[in-house]
Amino acid sequence: KRRIGVMTSGGDAPGMNGSVRAVVRMALHSNCEAYAIYEGYDGLVKGGDMIKEMKWEDVRGFLSEGGTLIGTARCMEFMQRDGRRTAAKNMILKGIDALVICGGDGSLTGADRFRDEWPSLLEELVKEKELTAEQVAPFKHLNIVGLVGSIDNDLSMTDATIGCYSSLARICEAIDSVDTTATSHQRAFVVETMGRHCGWLTLMAGVATGSDFIFIPEQPAKEGWEGNMLNIIRKHRQMGKRKTIVIVAEGAIDEKLNKITPHQIKEILSEAGLDTRVTTLGHVQRGGQPAAYDRMLSTLQGVEAVKAVLEATPETPSPVICMIENKIVRRPLLEAVAQTKKVAEAIEKKDFRTAMELRDAE
Ligand code: ADP
Repeated sequence: KRRIGVMTSGGDAPGMNGSVRAVVRMALHSNCEAYAIYEGYDGLVKGGDMIKEMKWEDVRGFLSEGGTLIGTARCMEFMQRDGRRTAAKNMILKGIDALVICGGDGSLTGADRFRDEWPSLLEELVKEKELTAEQVAPFKHLNIVGLVGSIDNDLSMTDATIGCYSSLARICEAIDSVDTTATSHQRAFVVETMGRHCGWLTLMAGVATGSDFIFIPEQPAKEGWEGNMLNIIRKHRQMGKRKTIVIVAEGAIDEKLNKITPHQIKEILSEAGLDTRVTTLGHVQRGGQPAAYDRMLSTLQGVEAVKAVLEATPETPSPVICMIENKIVRRPLLEAVAQTKKVAEAIEKKDFRTAMELRDAE
């Protein structure tokens, strides 16, 4: 029976458990065996008990649990070839030659690198007598399938990543709570949200909560933004609005490339006569139960991941399972990661024109 491994890696995201559940159950349904790799690449490098066979009942209740129950970690050893060789050995000892990874672009990059090196890692293992030629013979190719788990919705080539709608829901709940007190006291609140390269959460939260003004990395605030923001806020107040909400993404900047901070905005609003508070949402945005959308997305993508494993040939490039215009589709993993990196690099270099063009091209 084919053995398929599943793991979660990088930053946790609500819905990761749903993908583990779907991969395990779809693997069993397809007459394969399923293995969970605990603590991300750490589990692969450590092997032994960190790689456990999963039965149907082992993933019961996973769908509605936040975070990742099989754990995640950042693993330095896997960044080194030696670490990846040990990982390959552990997989062969368990008879696993297919891996579904739910993680961010770092995790997916590492996975494809592992697939690429696989034949030479096996050669080395045999040469150094860690495994015999007979042991490695049945495992010529490694199949990798990626699922994107990220609250930021920052991967190219997919409309939604697993976790982003749960995070958005959490942000909206938090802003609703701030709203009630803001309205009661006629206060202004500056809310800081996650997103160093990607303003999706901030933009969507702005729309979903009817906030007055937002700042995102992709669109640096134009010169004179302070006056523009105050004019808009004054207009809203004149229309009878009793509260003011400004949302600032972590990576927000102005046209001169200066970082825009929540405290800076607080100063501006306070000087304009508004009683202003700052709320940093921080890790609250990552946690809690997955929203219905993420349960659905992770389930459909987990099922598709197992299908992709079973249909793969040695020539098939590693796929990442995406959602495009409400359809579950496969895209080349490396292309999706390369495109994501280009956007992040362009933003880092403050080359917003290129960043926006790349985003538009998606
Ligand atoms: P994310 O997957 O959320 O982007 P990281 O970038 O921290 O998170 O990656 C998670 C883990 O994936 C790392 O700790 C490392 O073990 C592995 N990894 C990331 N990039 C590579 C790489 N280029 N080569 C090998 N492994 C990698």
